[in-house]
Amino acid sequence: MAVILDGKKIASDIKAELKESIRKLKSEGKTVPGLVAILVGDNPASKVYVSSKSKDCEEIGIKSKVESLPEDTTEDELLNLIRKYNNDPEYHGILVQLPLPGHIDENRVIETIVPSKDVDGFHPQNVGNLVIGKDTFYPCTPYGIVEILKRYDIETSGKHVVVVGRSNIVGKPVANMMLQKKEGANSIVTVCHSAAKDLSRFTKEADILIAAIGRPKFIKASMVKEGAVVIDVGINRIEDKTTKSGYRLVGDVDYEEVFEKASYITPVPGGVGLMTRAMLLRNTFEAYQKIMGN
Ligand code: NDP
Repeated sequence: MAVILDGKKIASDIKAELKESIRKLKSEGKTVPGLVAILVGDNPASKVYVSSKSKDCEEIGIKSKVESLPEDTTEDELLNLIRKYNNDPEYHGILVQLPLPGHIDENRVIETIVPSKDVDGFHPQNVGNLVIGKDTFYPCTPYGIVEILKRYDIETSGKHVVVVGRSNIVGKPVANMMLQKKEGANSIVTVCHSAAKDLSRFTKEADILIAAIGRPKFIKASMVKEGAVVIDVGINRIEDKTTKSGYRLVGDVDYEEVFEKASYITPVPGGVGLMTRAMLLRNTFEAYQKIMGN
């Protein structure tokens, strides 16, 4: 039976730590960190994400602002708004909620955010710094995963980390972070994707298995080594007539099965998702510290 890696508790600890730091700044009469979230269009999921991020900010004392733009906003209008915030000293973090409407080039948008305010860690300069082990902003989900391992004192050095998924927001950055020659990483890393012919051949070798696939309950107990640490990034809605909403959230890991075999496991919900939100706050605070020079 596994120990449950309690993302809710760690996220709440991180928020409390940040709240205390911001309280101190205020008491010293200093400006506080600021985050602007830019939302384009009416995507309901994006609206929920942005509103929860802004609520998180308020809870710990980060100044937050939401710029809601209509669906037909032009790329130039959006880029100009980003440039305005690049030069606004009250906002230290800029977040553009993805996905964007089809007529806007996401890459151009990401590249327009000044790297020092890129709290999502998606700017190519920050991605490059991550790969070569330089100071950077880590994308929030991978940063949250590394923080969970750290706070539970899980040994990573020399361990075989197998990541299933190679997206730019989860799979690739977490693989690169675990590869770095530094404390809390220094792992032997394998990255798998949909071209793997026999996925379980790789997953069964994992001391630490990170699933970022987007397929409900895809990782079965038979694919996991006895005593492995299992990190489930997936957030999938499945139909469940017993709930009020008619659905429930499950991860990419078959939790009930794998729980019996793993040494540690993250639940869904209550695992990586809450950490992602907390690490955005941490990144905003770090952006503030870098910009203010402390
Ligand atoms: P993507 O769809 O961008 O990437 C999924 C990856 O899984 C791809 O690399 C894909 O391979 C791989 N894959 C798909 N099917 C298989 C298979 N049968 N065998 C092996 N690999 C496979 O997803 P994301 O990385 O954005 O997200 C992954 C999951 O994590 C989703 O459920 C998402 O909702 C969740 N998520 C959760 C977050 C959180 O805060 N907890 C944050 C971000 C995402 P290929 O590249 O070959 O297509």
